[in-house]
Amino acid sequence: MTKKIAVLPGDGIGPEIVAQAVKVLDALKADGLDIELEEGTIGGAGYDAAGDPLPEATLKLAREADAILLGAVGGPEYDKLDRPLRPERGLLRIRKELNLFANLRPALLYPELAEASSLKPEVVSGLDIMIVRELTGDVYFGQPRGIEERNGERVGFNTMLYSESEVRRVARVAFDIAMKRDKRLCSVEKANVLECSELWREVVLEVARDYPEVELSHMYVDNAAMQLVKWPKQFDVIVTGNIFGDILSDQASMLSGSIGMLPSASLDKDNKGMYEPIHGSAPDIAGQDKANPLATILSVAMMLRYTFADEVNAKRVEDAVKGVLAQGIRTVDIATEGCQTVACSAMGDAVVAAMRG
Ligand code: NAD
Repeated sequence: MTKKIAVLPGDGIGPEIVAQAVKVLDALKADGLDIELEEGTIGGAGYDAAGDPLPEATLKLAREADAILLGAVGGPEYDKLDRPLRPERGLLRIRKELNLFANLRPALLYPELAEASSLKPEVVSGLDIMIVRELTGDVYFGQPRGIEERNGERVGFNTMLYSESEVRRVARVAFDIAMKRDKRLCSVEKANVLECSELWREVVLEVARDYPEVELSHMYVDNAAMQLVKWPKQFDVIVTGNIFGDILSDQASMLSGSIGMLPSASLDKDNKGMYEPIHGSAPDIAGQDKANPLATILSVAMMLRYTFADEVNAKRVEDAVKGVLAQGIRTVDIATEGCQTVACSAMGDAVVAAMRG
């Protein structure tokens, strides 16, 4: 059956980078992939078009789609809007409306880009970690929360809260991913101090019984932060809660040097997903055909793998990206001495050419 993909370019460099990912999707379609693309507005573009960062029509399109490809949202021209109308609200709302609870963020370093990392090449070369972060629970959503006066002074409070079912569903996603990789999963929490983490660990251990082939380990979050910079290659898949994952995934993404290279996926219980680069709308370079589209193109590879279960085409896209890097073709953000620097649109063309081999 034809798979529907909602394409939401967003703001800033969003339209430029998404156009390159669409070239890749069009090439796959020409080779027989049964997909249909439909475009919608989100973020500042949604506000401009319909007075809402998540227009009703876009939400409908996203609900009806099998997968969503997103560029980025935001820009200085929208900073003065009331909070509910700001571009970022559109993004938070679409994640919540679609119940995208599992955020997958690979931290992967292509050998050709080892020099771009702030860590020594031997520490990061060949790095390939997948962080699975729970995205709709934890201290970011737990009740009660607030700021109030107690004993004559203001106190601020939030609640770290996970239900068994929330832990179980994200743990299953992480175990399933580990099964498709090196079959090693590290669950990160703070069970020595937090009851919430104690329950997290118990539930992860219960789920582990269904995955006897996966080697499960547990690590406290403070140690995990240290190990990620000390010897990151020890990790295969990491599963963790919302706040720990927020911090660790940003830390891990920087191991690979360039923000323009890293894709992400946010999945619901049926593997419907929203796929987007981890970077923002880069207003400083928007409209200049300079942005690196590879994070967005690699997001398409994740879409093929996780929502469409199409490993062959996922690898085809990833191999094309590797091939282009091996040829020394670079956008300006990842340029090194002796390479050929190209524009965003030329990078998209180069990936398509490499797919055609
Ligand atoms: P940013 O990620 O947009 O940019 C940070 C730096 O990285 C900039 O110098 C930018 O030029 C560069 N950069 C980012 N992506 C690049 C790419 N593909 N190729 C080459 N260089 C790239 O972060 P920021 O500047 O903090 O935020 C800009 C806007 O983006 C803000 O409005 C912010 O709210 C928004 N934002 C959106 C998302 C999202 O849509 N998911 C995420 C982060 C920030």
